[in-house]
Amino acid sequence: MKYTVDKKGFYGEFGGSFIPEAMYPNIEELRMNYLDIMNSTDFKKEFKQLLKDYVGRPSPLYFAKRLSEMHDTKIYLKREDLNHTGSHKINNTVGQILIAKKLGKTRIIAETGAGQHGVATATVCALMGIKCVVYMGALDVSRQAPNVLRMKMLGTEVIPVESGNKTLKDATNGAMRDWINNPWDTHYIVGSVIGPHPYPDMVARLQSIISEEMKWQLKKQVGRDYPDYILACVGGGSNAAGAFYHYLDDEKVKLIATEAAGLGADTPETAATLAIGSPGVLHSCRTMLMQNEDGQITEPYSISAGLDYPGIGPMHSWLHKIGRTEYLCITDKEAVDAAFTLTQTEGIIPALESAHALAVLNKKKFGKDDVVVINLSGRGDKDMHTYIDIMQKKINI
Ligand SMILES: *Cc1c(COP(=O)(O)O)cnc(C)c1O
Repeated sequence: MKYTVDKKGFYGEFGGSFIPEAMYPNIEELRMNYLDIMNSTDFKKEFKQLLKDYVGRPSPLYFAKRLSEMHDTKIYLKREDLNHTGSHKINNTVGQILIAKKLGKTRIIAETGAGQHGVATATVCALMGIKCVVYMGALDVSRQAPNVLRMKMLGTEVIPVESGNKTLKDATNGAMRDWINNPWDTHYIVGSVIGPHPYPDMVARLQSIISEEMKWQLKKQVGRDYPDYILACVGGGSNAAGAFYHYLDDEKVKLIATEAAGLGADTPETAATLAIGSPGVLHSCRTMLMQNEDGQITEPYSISAGLDYPGIGPMHSWLHKIGRTEYLCITDKEAVDAAFTLTQTEGIIPALESAHALAVLNKKKFGKDDVVVINLSGRGDKDMHTYIDIMQKKINI
């Protein structure tokens, strides 16, 4: 069975490139060049150097002793939370800005929901001195003021999109329109393993540094280069794709991903795409998505902004369909409980997204000698207002 993308950009029946005619030249240029660029010694050298000196890689693989004792198994945390800007998202934006430069692009656009991908993009544009425009739904602009201000401080222009629900999907439409109108000088930095081919494959490869490091870190720390389990949360699916990538063909490594169930996958307040979704086209690829009978995208909900997305990358739709990865639903409450447990047993405040992966520890019993790697995708600083509201009982969870 093949788990990575085929020549036409498909993962089984999922993926592909369902784009308006006017976007074809941009996508075609990227598709024709991305692998050559990524395989060039020049790119590899620059990418590795920036990951090391700017992002702070390798991210540690930390043996969580107290958490392991609590669950009677061996838990290792892959510390993406320690990266510059606080999550795995920077791995992708550093890679894509280097690709954009090799393509001769002088202007970057991106879309953002909660603002985290917008900040990661604005950061690398400041680093490279490249003009950056971020599209954001007008509702999100008002809900995510700190990230909007961060982007502005970094020198990025934030454009509020007033159409539709004024959230992520509308921001994506804004960015696509911009790209169609600026095909020559502009690169569109997509933030997860979604979008038309080659984005899902390109972003998965850029994030695969996570499992590449895991291999030698495990070899050094446990004496073999593979774990028994890898756990990761999925919004679009990029941190999970990176954490799974080099183990996809190694069937003895069990892969578990978690979707945000919100108040429960059986309620309307959920973002558990695989649990309740059906196939369709979203963000220019065929994948699983949350829609009503008329094919209208339904509004997702999760306490975690990064998982509050009505679709999922085509690679995950495929891994789910063929059973290579197990997908579990984690509610807001289960995630918050897991976040407080990690904080008080290891002194690490996780992002709410990452807490969804940690929550598996309370759902599944692992063997005493199992090596369980949890991808800690981000830190909790950005979620402090939510944690504080919970502690002060301003929100009931
Ligand atoms: C954005 C984000 C996610 C979700 O995105 P993926 O593409 O599914 O990885 C998860 N964790 C953190 C910390 C994020 O910022």
